[in-house]
Amino acid sequence: MIHQAKMVRLVEDIAAKLGVTDRRVIEAVASVPRHWFVDEALRLRAYSDDALPIGYGQTISKVSTVLRMTALLNPQRGEKVLEIGTGSGFQAAVLARLADSVYSVERVGALALRAREMLNSLRAYRVHIRTGDGSKGWAKHAPYDKIIVTAAADRMPHALLEQLAHGGLLVTPVAGSSGQVLKEVRRLDDDNWEEVALEACRFVPLVEGSTAR
Ligand code: SAH
Repeated sequence: MIHQAKMVRLVEDIAAKLGVTDRRVIEAVASVPRHWFVDEALRLRAYSDDALPIGYGQTISKVSTVLRMTALLNPQRGEKVLEIGTGSGFQAAVLARLADSVYSVERVGALALRAREMLNSLRAYRVHIRTGDGSKGWAKHAPYDKIIVTAAADRMPHALLEQLAHGGLLVTPVAGSSGQVLKEVRRLDDDNWEEVALEACRFVPLVEGSTAR
């Protein structure tokens, strides 16, 4: 079976299992060639629901994780999205198919560079990538309609809450004493946020402070 057909089948299966019904989201995830985003030796595993290593101790998220988080975030045309943790660039490519512009911050310089090249070859020019500590957000382009964090912080990153537009939505894993929990935070106005704890999840840790080459 060709790659794209495998991806469509995998995403459809996962969507049915998770109860995701939004065709825009399903099609956006299924249309990004995931095998391009992993090392050649792992290509055969690109179309399974596994998190795969991308170097530097990091992983490309599971397809089910990308689908679930994208469905929660529900990016729309006209919206500006911030992603923390570019990694392979796969999630950013998915977001670019749905939103107007995507700003993505990656701590590891080499990953940011590789993701940029990959996204260029996919002509995903709506994605802007910066190397830096994403726990501080990307103030220059704030406020954001949606913010997605793909690494788990020990506490809700304050800077990200501040960079949300009024009515905006943040989806992030947060690590606690009994493991990581996926959280959704809606900004109501200047100083009110509404937080909902969703299911348990598993992400690599969000590392604060200086960046790595
Ligand atoms: N969204 C990615 C998944 C990446 S895994 C994908 O689709 O492939 C999480 C990423 O977060 C890793 O690449 C890791 O280097 C990055 N990361 C960890 N701490 C960070 C921080 N403080 N700021 C920005 N990126 C960070």
